[in-house]
Amino acid sequence: MSFYRQIAVLLLFFLILFIFIYPNQNGFIYLIFKGVAIGGLVVIFISFAFPQVFKIREIQKVDIEDSEIGLKEPSFSMYVKTQYKRLLLQILDLVKNVNSKFSAAIYMIDSENKGYTCQEKSYPDFSDFIETDNEIIAEIVKKRKPSLFKKSNKNTGWDELLGSRTWRGSETIIGFPVLYDENIVGVLIVYMDHFSSILDRDQQIIERLSQFITHGMEDLEHMEALMIDNQFNFRLANLFDQFEVKSDESELFESIRSICRSFFQYDKLTIVLSSEDKEEAVIKLVDGLLDDADEGMEFKIQNSLHGKAIQDNTIFCSNSWFDEYPNMGRFKSGDMNEYNFMSVLSIPLRSDGESRGAITLELLRSKVYSDTDIRLLKLLCSKISTILNWQKAYKKVHLTSIHDGLTGLLNHKAFLNRFEEEISRADRFNQMFGLVILDLDKFKSVNDSYGHLYGDYVLEDVAKIISESVRTIDVVGRYGGEEFAVLLINSDIEDCIPVAERIVKSIEAKTFLKSSIATNITISGGLAGFPRHAKQVKDLIEKADKAMYESKSIGGNRVTITTDA
Ligand code: GH3
Ligand code: MG
Ligand code: MG
Repeated sequence: MSFYRQIAVLLLFFLILFIFIYPNQNGFIYLIFKGVAIGGLVVIFISFAFPQVFKIREIQKVDIEDSEIGLKEPSFSMYVKTQYKRLLLQILDLVKNVNSKFSAAIYMIDSENKGYTCQEKSYPDFSDFIETDNEIIAEIVKKRKPSLFKKSNKNTGWDELLGSRTWRGSETIIGFPVLYDENIVGVLIVYMDHFSSILDRDQQIIERLSQFITHGMEDLEHMEALMIDNQFNFRLANLFDQFEVKSDESELFESIRSICRSFFQYDKLTIVLSSEDKEEAVIKLVDGLLDDADEGMEFKIQNSLHGKAIQDNTIFCSNSWFDEYPNMGRFKSGDMNEYNFMSVLSIPLRSDGESRGAITLELLRSKVYSDTDIRLLKLLCSKISTILNWQKAYKKVHLTSIHDGLTGLLNHKAFLNRFEEEISRADRFNQMFGLVILDLDKFKSVNDSYGHLYGDYVLEDVAKIISESVRTIDVVGRYGGEEFAVLLINSDIEDCIPVAERIVKSIEAKTFLKSSIATNITISGGLAGFPRHAKQVKDLIEKADKAMYESKSIGGNRVTITTDA
């Protein structure tokens, strides 16, 4: 029940209560209240007994909701419809110009209602709707060329077309078929009181006019296609404008959802990306029917409708795919119990010519997706492929740019960035964390004795030991040549000490063996805690560094906590 109806019923309820306690039950105002209350009750009873009388608004609402996922932007159709109406009015006008005694009407096919609907008329007597089996219409459609009808007692269909009246017998109709795509889609009917007023020349002109409707419709369709393409390109360009190479994949998919809603008809939209080996795919985005396959679901590509475009690396379009491929399931065979999707349009997302995913539109009813749908969805796929490729390339470059090539740890700059982020996070959530700075003891002598390559191997192994000594949430960076830095997240300084000492002990215990060279090495650490010792990156580093040098000054191979408050 709508909000307004609920309010109305409540008001009525209080009105009736009020009537019972109204002091002057013989007064005029009391009579009015009583009248309103009775009227309200009558309306309520009728709405219960004959709900269809009050259903009109609700039906309209559903229509609007449906059209939200409609094929075209409403402004397009509105604009083209206005142009179409103008075209028809001009044609009727031209008929009048040929002979002012001629009246005309244009009827267009209405296959749902099995007849022809009058779209425009220059004479009010023309009926608004004529059934397909009307003799005059049926004859024009059968002949496919202009047909002349003189009123006689024999032929019927006149009353249906022009309303019943007393016919004089001289009335004449010429019907011109309107063709579109080789099919008859309508008729132009020209009516005159007396057959003597028709000249051959006039008939030829009117025939041209009926052809003009055909051309006009083709032009309008072309115009509409151009406008859709323009609008589509505009939205695609916007997609690129909004998109940042660094931005999250999910943002991209959200924009795609909105574009698809505006331009395509579907009961379910699904975007999937495949694994490198094209064995499996994962659903990245869905729209439409909610209680169906959802984002994040994984499935095997083999024998699945949603994997078909990926596997074949080509478009798949069908309005009865299940009949064509009875052994195929939507995501796995035999999963067609819940919904009976009939129509599908699936287009691969490609990277370097290889399919890497697919966008799939599905409809419960049988509908052949049009060339326009295919063209637009292909265009969208190619743009998405480009963006996904950019993101992939960016991720690769980004990962190499923040990691150290030798140890794979975060490099100096990336570590400092993370450090800043961790400080603001800890600040927000009122958490503590520790910074450990570690520097290998007398590492220069390792290089001097065994060479740089051996030194590199030691650095790699030390990095591994440090990483393995901490949790995955902790952050490890190569702070300098043989210097490392660790952030021990969400840890009290007392919890950090054993971790730092474990690192020192593990390195001391390790024998670095490579190319039959074996050495042992030690490391010194300094520890400072956020927020206990400092709250800024610079200060924390300074304090931990100083503490680390204190470790070295008393022989190394140990951890010192900063003493600065
Ligand atoms: P201390 O105990 O005072 O830290 O002595 P140290 O020798 O470790 O310190 P110093 O700063 O004198 O020397 C650091 C050495 O680390 C010098 C440099 O050759 C070496 N080093 C820095 N980066 C690399 C690298 O990437 N590979 C190798 N093999 N050695 C490196
Ligand atoms: Mg050193
Ligand atoms: Mg050093």
